[in-house]
Amino acid sequence: YQEQVLLRFYQDGEDEAYLYKLRLIEELKEALECEVSPLFMNYQPKLNMNTGKIDKLEALIRWINKEGNFVNPELFIDLAEKAGLIVSLTRWVILEVIQQTEQWNKMGYRFKVAINLSAQDIQNEQFVDYLLTTVNDHQVSTSQITLELTERDIAENEALVVARLSHLKSLGFVISVDDYGIGQSSLAKLKSLPVDELKIDKTFILKLEQCQKDQDIVASTISLGHKLGLSVVAEGVENKESLMLLNDFQCDYAQGYYLSRPVSAEKFIEWYKTYES
Ligand code: C2E
Ligand code: CA
Ligand code: CA
Ligand code: CA
Repeated sequence: YQEQVLLRFYQDGEDEAYLYKLRLIEELKEALECEVSPLFMNYQPKLNMNTGKIDKLEALIRWINKEGNFVNPELFIDLAEKAGLIVSLTRWVILEVIQQTEQWNKMGYRFKVAINLSAQDIQNEQFVDYLLTTVNDHQVSTSQITLELTERDIAENEALVVARLSHLKSLGFVISVDDYGIGQSSLAKLKSLPVDELKIDKTFILKLEQCQKDQDIVASTISLGHKLGLSVVAEGVENKESLMLLNDFQCDYAQGYYLSRPVSAEKFIEWYKTYES
């Protein structure tokens, strides 16, 4: 009897989680069609450690659902991928980010802004066209747009994706390998990829000051990245000690809560003005 109760409990629990996800998918569909969108972008600076300036940002999506709660981006991005919504979601992101970048250009702030892509985006036949048309429709240059994708996204349909990335790179877009070091990273592969930037995954950075092994991994990844001609970014920089270590290791860019959390475009500019002054 007890076993049956337990079983029921778990099934109910799963149903609930399942129904919640279905509801989120439906709501996300609506959100993508809404005129006043409940989706918005946050921006997080990447500090140029060679100049001490902020010249790059990462755009990160946010969603406040009908109940007024933030939904975890990892959760709804995953759902969007499974529900076939990611291509339209990414289009929304691309337009939003390019409009914002144009607005900053007009204000005299020229940043390189990174957009996160999913495997399905880069494999989509219309992707390059959409991205290029959107850039051309705005006063933004291709070199201001960075595309972040993981090695796993690249590996999914490698020949096609590599060809597409080469094309994008030749158009001037910046290509970045995200979450480097976790999963099936391979040095041999990195050598043959048309990429410009390497982002060391935050799991190696979060406790950098406490962990000698992480320091060894990070230092050698940076020097490897440099040998391959790549700009290296460390994400998840939460304290001064890790920033100093990254500086010692000659890391090119640092990104993390220690500098700034991801914030709205308005808040970012406020922060930027005090930072630069
Ligand atoms: P990601 O691309 O690896 O983004 C970095 C994540 O680390 C972000 O989480 C960011 O807020 C967080 N982060 C930044 N600095 C720190 C730090 O110092 N400490 C810690 N603990 N975390 C830090 P977020 O915004 O929750 O996004 C999670 C993931 O969702 C992203 O990981 C990315 O894979 C995905 N994502 C976010 N926005 C988009 C988007 O517009 N499109 C797509 N396709 N995926 C997105
Ligand atoms: Ca990213
Ligand atoms: Ca990352
Ligand atoms: Ca990621």
